[in-house]
Amino acid sequence: MVVVMAPDATDEQIERVTERVASVGGEAFVSRGVVRTIIGLVGDIDSFHGLNLRSLPGVADVHRISDPFKLVSRQHHAGRSTVWVGQPHHQVPIGPETFTFIAGPCAVETHQQTLEAAEMSKAAGATLLRGGAFKPRTSPYAFQGLGRRGLEILAAVRETTGLPIVTEVVDARDVPVVAAHADMLQVGTRNAGNFGLLQAVGECGKPVLLKRGMTATIEEWLMAAEYVAQRGNLDVVLCERGIRTFEPATRNTLDISAVPVVQATSHLPIIVDPSHAAGRKDLVVPLSRAAIAVGADGVIVDVHPNPEEALCDGPQALFGGDLRALATAVRRIPPMVGRVDAGERIRPSARR
Ligand code: PEP
Ligand code: MN
Repeated sequence: MVVVMAPDATDEQIERVTERVASVGGEAFVSRGVVRTIIGLVGDIDSFHGLNLRSLPGVADVHRISDPFKLVSRQHHAGRSTVWVGQPHHQVPIGPETFTFIAGPCAVETHQQTLEAAEMSKAAGATLLRGGAFKPRTSPYAFQGLGRRGLEILAAVRETTGLPIVTEVVDARDVPVVAAHADMLQVGTRNAGNFGLLQAVGECGKPVLLKRGMTATIEEWLMAAEYVAQRGNLDVVLCERGIRTFEPATRNTLDISAVPVVQATSHLPIIVDPSHAAGRKDLVVPLSRAAIAVGADGVIVDVHPNPEEALCDGPQALFGGDLRALATAVRRIPPMVGRVDAGERIRPSARR
């Protein structure tokens, strides 16, 4: 932390800062310039916050140098992490060496629809199945998901296909039932700042897929991840899903630069959701190619056996030729950026 003194700060005011810092066990290094004096602080940053240094006379500004998040920061963690998703006998990696393709329906509608979407996804190369049982809809009149019945369908489809499941939880009260059925719990963009829910998934014992809030800065998103980590769960995968901007041509603006920025700042894996970013199926394949090329650890996309009849997000669901084009991209591009398909690294060692 650096304290910048006002140009007219007196020696007494500078001394007052150094005394306050010493009072909590910190060290203050005073550097006197021609116009201004700056004071570098070394020690426990949280105790410095408690000093309220900005309110002292003669203090012009206080800057923090280290990240405000700790557990998810690379500053305290060498290298990038891998998160394993699935049952003990079948765990799929999401991390820096692999590329993980996650696909499935936006919402679980029926057993048949979910099974067909899962089989299409698996045939296209997906190693994890997505599907919402609890849907966070903008309108209270829209299909809200099948709830518990949807979780049972997902578990049944996992039995048939072998694909571990990722599903959203929208209410902290549902965390135990979702964790009992799912292999990974998703916190969606609308709940990315719901700190009670973040703490609850932090205690659920399963990996968490944390989407970026649609108006969240990268720092706010990583602070949300810190809430999960602080409750003891470091198995967090971040998901860039587009942010709200002035551009109406796409549903959201995919912030592709978030991928390398996050990777430089945090050790957590990061994947991209081009379906919810674009809201249009014609953009899903090009944006997926971009995500793989920029170094994302995976993509998560919507597929549907019959998009015209989808109860949720039909316009962005892949099917037929688009899904085949995505399968080709997911097979070909990751090796060019030094990654192997996550399906080749399933633990203990079984191949898909
Ligand atoms: C979803 O993945 O189904 C979803 C609702 O995504 P988001 O929270 O990114 O809108
Ligand atoms: Mn959706």
